[in-house]
This record gives sequence, C-alpha cells and structure tokens, in this order.
Amino acid sequence: MTLRTLDSLGSLEGKRVIVRCDLNVPLRDGVITDDGRVRASLPTLNALINAGARVVVCSHLGRPDGAPDPQYSLEPVAQRLSELLGKPVAFARDTVGESARSAVEATENGGIVVLENLRFNAGETAKDDATREAFAAQLAELGDALVSDGFGVVHRKQASVYDLAGILPSAAGLLIATELDVLDRLTEKPEQPYTVVLGGSKVSDKLGVIAHLLPRVDRLLVGGGMLFTFLAAEGHAVASSLLEKDQLDTVRGYIAEAKERGVELVLPTDVVVASGFAADADHETVAADAIEQSSFGASGIGLDIGPDTAARFAEAIRGSKTVFWNGPMGVFEFPAFAAGTKTVAQALTEVDGLSVVGGGDSAAAVRQLGFSDDRFGHISTGGGASLEFLEGKKLPGLEVLGWQ
Ligand code: ADP
Ligand code: MG
Repeated sequence: MTLRTLDSLGSLEGKRVIVRCDLNVPLRDGVITDDGRVRASLPTLNALINAGARVVVCSHLGRPDGAPDPQYSLEPVAQRLSELLGKPVAFARDTVGESARSAVEATENGGIVVLENLRFNAGETAKDDATREAFAAQLAELGDALVSDGFGVVHRKQASVYDLAGILPSAAGLLIATELDVLDRLTEKPEQPYTVVLGGSKVSDKLGVIAHLLPRVDRLLVGGGMLFTFLAAEGHAVASSLLEKDQLDTVRGYIAEAKERGVELVLPTDVVVASGFAADADHETVAADAIEQSSFGASGIGLDIGPDTAARFAEAIRGSKTVFWNGPMGVFEFPAFAAGTKTVAQALTEVDGLSVVGGGDSAAAVRQLGFSDDRFGHISTGGGASLEFLEGKKLPGLEVLGWQ
C-alpha cells in the first residue's frame, strides 16, 4: 500500500489540520438515526487531538443544492461528535466564511471545530474544474494540512476530496487506511473458500462488481431485488417482482461465465411473495420457479428470499474463510420481509475468517436488525466507494493520496 499516512505529515502540534470526514448520517426530524459514520471518524480525530493539532472537521450531509439549507445542517452531528469524544466541539455556521474563520482562529491545540456542510457551497461538487479549485483554495486558507478520511466520497472528484489535496500537504486518515486494508484482502489473494453475497435493489448497480469478482470467488449468492433478473434469465416467470429486462442478456452471460470458471452460483429456491409493496401486505412463501402460482398470481411481488434459501445461504457463508456481503436480501425496512437479511447477517457473524459488510443500506440493515458492529470483521462506511474499488476502478480521492 503506497498511500501517504498520518506520519508523513510530521509533527502536527499547533497546526491547523483540516479533516475531510464522511459524516453523512441519516437524520429523521433532526435526530441521527444511525451514528455509525460519526463513530468511524473517531480514531483519526482522537489521534489528531492527542497530537496537539487544531482540528478542523469538514463533511457533506445529504444533497443540498449548493446553497444553505437548514435541514442539512451538520450541527446535530457536531453535537453527537462532542458526546462521543467527551469534549466540547465548536461549530461554524458557514464553511469558508466569517464564522468558519473566527472559529478556526479560536481553536486551541487539541481543540476541534466542525464547519458547516461543504455542499452548502456550489464549488464543492462543481463539474467545472476552475469553480471547484476556487472553493478548494478558500478551504485551504483554513488549514496547514489535510487529512482525508471520508472513505464514502473517495470515488468523487470533489473540491474537498480531490482538489484540496493538491494544495495542502495531505495524507490519508486511519479510517481510509483500514477500509483499504480490508478491501485489499477481498481482492488480493483472499483466503478460500471466498463467498460473495449480493442483493439490494438493482442488478445494474452491481454489474461491475460481479464482473470483477467472478474470477476471484468460489461462490456467488444472489438475493434481494436482483434475484428476479437472475431467475428470469433462467427462464422463470417472476410476476410483478423487480425485473431489469435490459440486463437479461448480461446476466445470462454471468451465469455462463460462472459455470465456465467453476464458480458456484447459488440462486434462491424459494421466495416470499407479497400482494403488494407495503409493510402489511399479505404474503406467502413459494418455490422460486412458481412465483406466478402464488395466490396473488401475476400481481405478486417477491420481497424476500424464502427460509430454505436463507438456510442454504447461511450454510455457504458459515463454511467460508472470506465473505463479502453487499445488498439486503429483501425489503428489510418492512419487518415481515427482513427474515432473509437477518439470517444472512447472523451467518456473517459466525464466519471463522474475514466477514465484510459493504453498502449503505446493508450497514443500516445489520444495525437496525440489532447486530452490533463488532460482530463483523468490518462494516464499510462507503457504499459506492467500496463497490467502485471492488470493480477495480481508480478512485480520484485515493490517487491524490499516493494510492496506486
Ligand atoms: P446497499 O446500499 O447496501 O448497496 P442497495 O442500495 O443496492 O444496497 O439496495 C438496498 C435496497 O434494496 C433496500 O432499500 C431494500 O428494500 C431493497 N430491496 C431488497 N430486496 C428487494 C426486493 N425483493 N424488491 C425490491 N427492493 C428490494
Ligand atoms: Mg443503497
């Protein structure tokens, strides 16, 4: 790993260190519903505080339109950070304006300030290089060095992720280093048997990962909304379930490739079919090749893998040395359709080896279902970033940190 690490920045005592975190947490009515990303930022922040740096935290939250929008304020996040660090955290009401300048000025050695949402400024995500660079230059005035630790955004060419690293001395934080270490173990000589479990809503989101991982895995288990495109590719009717017709040929190609490579492709043998897409919809379990024969006929929608499938998946997972899981097995947001996801999550906690959960919804699912983070080898904080890494893509936010 050629990534520049924190020690490459030398002594940070008294220096203003901008830390690009990914504090993009889910909020409901101003309350954080999953603080996993705030917790994941703590090791780096504590290391910088202990080194006597003046810590300037920046992050995005949600998708405001390049202008201030109170519902996306980072203030509740700053508050949570203060509770988790057990020390005061100052908050600036803007990102690069008067409030930010005076808050940074007032930050003492070992002190910490959170700047307001980066995306309240159009320059953060601008496609135009000059606009982005101008915003990065404004940010650079607030710091002497940059620590990039927002793993969830390293696949984005954005001002704080990409351009800023070209202006200030920069290095990767501990979270990025950990994430890369784990992802490396999933792509370079993973311990075998190596099982990848894919689910989630769309096959089209995961095609690149399937293509890149097929030559590396022993087993590929397919659940979630994408399973129906696989079943349809094998010639089964799927009623009104999620189906991406335009991906059928691609999926047939993967099925053939798996066979050629000797990869065990495990598709569901039973699914839970519902009368409609609703938490309280009527539902029943049917064989995967008899979805249209459920009582709901052609209007039935498959919302979870069935219990036999879940048990087979669990067995394959438990018998593996390396497991990567991305994408819930069903619509876990509705308790009636969360059983498959729960069984798979449970099996991951029983792996004697490396178990990794990737993807924003998958991470939220395991927490929502009551599993604590430490029962998994690693829960990635970056959905899109970890998938792009596993697709073998070059990520701009890592390349600027010396990653090759
Ligand atoms: P991640 O964020 O972990 O990468 P995705 O975004 O790909 O996962 O997919 C998550 C979504 O997939 C969840 O909101 C879940 O409700 C949905 N999903 C899972 N199974 C189905 C299904 N059978 N039909 C429709 N949506 C599904
Ligand atoms: Mg998602």
